[in-house]
Amino acid sequence: MSQKVRVRFAPSPTGPLHIGGVRTALYNYLFAKKHGGDFVLRIEDTDSQRFVPGAEEYIIEALTWLGLKFDEGTHVGGAYAPYRQSDRKEIYRKYVDVLLDKGAAYIAFDTPEELESKRAAVANFQYDASTRGGMRNSLTLNGDEVQALIDAGNQYVVRFKIEANQEVLVNDLIRGEVKYNSSVLDDKVLFKSADNLPTYHLANIVDDHLMEITHVIRGEEWLPSAPLHVLLYKAFGWEATMPQFAHLPLLLKPEGNGKLSKRDGDRLGFPVFPLEWKDPKTGEISSGYRESGYLPEAVINFLALLGWNPGNDQEIMSMGELVQLFSLEKCSKSGAKFDYEKGKWFNHQYIQLRPNAEIANIYYPILEEKGVDVTLDYVETVVGLVKERVSFVKELWDQSFFFFVAPVSYDEKVVKKRWKEDSPAQMAELIDVLKNIDDFSAHNQEEIVKAWIESKGYHLGNIMNAFRLAVVGESKGPHMFDITAVIGKDETIARLQKAIQDL
Ligand code: GLU
Repeated sequence: MSQKVRVRFAPSPTGPLHIGGVRTALYNYLFAKKHGGDFVLRIEDTDSQRFVPGAEEYIIEALTWLGLKFDEGTHVGGAYAPYRQSDRKEIYRKYVDVLLDKGAAYIAFDTPEELESKRAAVANFQYDASTRGGMRNSLTLNGDEVQALIDAGNQYVVRFKIEANQEVLVNDLIRGEVKYNSSVLDDKVLFKSADNLPTYHLANIVDDHLMEITHVIRGEEWLPSAPLHVLLYKAFGWEATMPQFAHLPLLLKPEGNGKLSKRDGDRLGFPVFPLEWKDPKTGEISSGYRESGYLPEAVINFLALLGWNPGNDQEIMSMGELVQLFSLEKCSKSGAKFDYEKGKWFNHQYIQLRPNAEIANIYYPILEEKGVDVTLDYVETVVGLVKERVSFVKELWDQSFFFFVAPVSYDEKVVKKRWKEDSPAQMAELIDVLKNIDDFSAHNQEEIVKAWIESKGYHLGNIMNAFRLAVVGESKGPHMFDITAVIGKDETIARLQKAIQDL
């Protein structure tokens, strides 16, 4: 590629960013970075009806959390500013006039009521080459009439004049060449005098052109807009610099039938948004990956593989590796099932990969909330012993509470099964054995305790089970002597004494 790659993520701030939108942003980012290009954030807010306060901030916060750094955008500026379409109103008006002057667009005065009655009267009515001659527009009215209507304050729209029966080719980097007949398209509204704003289609094309975007990578739901966009580029005479299209496959429901929706998340209990979102109107809260305890690198890795693969079965890839390996050619055409269990698996993997000290830092506030007062070093040691058992930091407590607090009760079932008649006497003996151990390392304890068991002819399993019950209160936890080495000799002995008393 001779030209510098420039891609944009162009969300409309109509609510929280859906996880599919996050994947679109990610693929744009990976593609840009792979080619040493620019990653631009453009906010497409020309539909004032659907504007939701807080949505733009949410999008930026979510992508920042995930490590998708923009080179240009509403929040960082850049050479092509402004990046928010509502701040670019004057620019669009000029390009609407370009199309009007060329005869590629026309002014239409049909009121919503008139259009409605047309639709009621004519089956499958479409405002196009076959019908526009019977409507109230600058093609059927003369110049003076048009001017008089405008001067009288009548609202109007500007429509794109699409020639009937033309072949339109969309060259898609993922789907290959897709052919359309222009007759399927209606004369799309490009501009509305009512709010003096362009529609999505015009603003999108003009901005991609002015911002020198080289590749448009977006969700499959935008594929039907692509032929219209190709025709707009032609109408402006911009074919030579038209960006290349790549339409990403849909994210499908976990069962594979149909598009992933928020309802699937509610139904099956997984987030479909990167961050928690509170609906400003209803106050309804939707869960987010961040608040649910996902590590950003796990979310990235998970999403990267929903619609793309590196060509082999490698699954764990850092952002740097993804940038190296990513290519649009390896994106699939068919939809990707949203396997959220796989998302949990990735989180488990990344918890193992993160240094214990970092996991300890995330765990620490949870411990503080429980009133536990220990050093960060202590927590780090515990994390190292139990993290292989969890997929989320919040699950650590259940796997490690006994490192921080002595059991206050004992699991009844375990007591029945594992606290035998001679357990109290044996545990009393064990206390004496432990008392005499100076080097309380796990290894040394194990050697001495096992030698004692053997010399007495005790049953190894019975002793260790009772020992664990006394120290943990249940039958779980990592290697027994790893636990006692960490909690220390005094605490271990105290717990044994308490168990002898209580059980
Ligand atoms: N504003 C559109 C959206 O919300 C952008 C589609 C595109 O990337 O062209 O997704």
